[in-house]
Amino acid sequence: MFQGILISKDDAAYRATVQAIGEEVLPDGDVTVRIGWSTLNYKDGLAITGRAPVVRRFPMIPGIDFAGTVVDSRHAAWKVGDRVLLNGWGVGETHCGGLAEMARVKGDWLIALPAEFSARQAMAIGTAGYTAMLCVMALEKHGVKPGDGEVLVTGANGGVGSVAIALLSRLGYTVVASTGRMGESAYLTGLGATTVIDRSELSAPGKPLGKERWAGVIDTVGSHTLANACATTRYGGAVAACGLAGGMDFPSSVAPFILRGVTLCGIDSVMAPLAVRQAAWGRLARDLDLAKLDAMTREIALAEAPALAEQLLAGQVRGRLVVRLTGEN
Ligand code: NDP
Repeated sequence: MFQGILISKDDAAYRATVQAIGEEVLPDGDVTVRIGWSTLNYKDGLAITGRAPVVRRFPMIPGIDFAGTVVDSRHAAWKVGDRVLLNGWGVGETHCGGLAEMARVKGDWLIALPAEFSARQAMAIGTAGYTAMLCVMALEKHGVKPGDGEVLVTGANGGVGSVAIALLSRLGYTVVASTGRMGESAYLTGLGATTVIDRSELSAPGKPLGKERWAGVIDTVGSHTLANACATTRYGGAVAACGLAGGMDFPSSVAPFILRGVTLCGIDSVMAPLAVRQAAWGRLARDLDLAKLDAMTREIALAEAPALAEQLLAGQVRGRLVVRLTGEN
């Protein structure tokens, strides 16, 4: 038996309970991992609360990522004692996930824990931080360079936003943070934002084109915010869209794309190919300031996760939540 969160659903109720779980709940897989640390991402909040149909099979252990140690392997790439991490691949949605002390997964989904990180640090980064790196890499790929002008980060106090600000600032970009919590401005400038703006400047319905301002954008919010960000991106700039914290719609026009050559880059962390993941984690090891990571991270116990899932979806959590499981690093 091991401790974890188990989600069950029947006609009467959707429940996420911290409990002892038997190994028989774990699905088939060729590698078994003892999990030291996991995290709470936005999608884990949706899974635990049942607010959106993220979980596709019941009973389900939520948790879209984890870091830990291999305890059993029938996969050629992994042996007992290897330190590994996992992000996405439907884990925590269709395949039991990381918010438990044990997981059994496909070895093809795992990557080696970079030597620069403890398991706890890797999960402080988590899928949110790895996605922030994918966004930064997309802007770079589309030619956005430090010195080109301001880069906008929306949903700045969230997990993706916080890591994105830290990364961009370390790389020399001028970062503008958009937030609904202006009271957290000191936190955002501490991470490296040079300017903090109120998210109401971007969240109302806007015009197809506005005054050109952003060399690049990392958007975690979607809806009018993404539309307005595209409409105010400078000629030839790029917008990396990864989130929907403000809505799934995209009430935009083609004007920014056909009149200003703006590129809209879609970012998906879940099914990203192995080589892209490895590149992103390699870049995180090189480009993320660990003191800033520490400043944005709060450690919680598994028992606190259900209540914090609600707070996360309510936009009340700042930065990253790292969840202690066995605590092994
Ligand atoms: P968090 O909950 O940590 O952060 C989201 C932030 O968005 C909040 O802190 C808040 O920032 C802002 N926000 C919340 N509600 C609203 C609202 N109604 N309108 C405008 N802004 C709002 O989530 P993550 O950072 O982990 O994830 C951000 C988004 O990215 C989510 O939608 C998530 O699903 C998505 N995501 C996508 C991935 C992918 O592969 N494409 C991977 C990881 C995440 P503030 O208070 O500063 O305004």
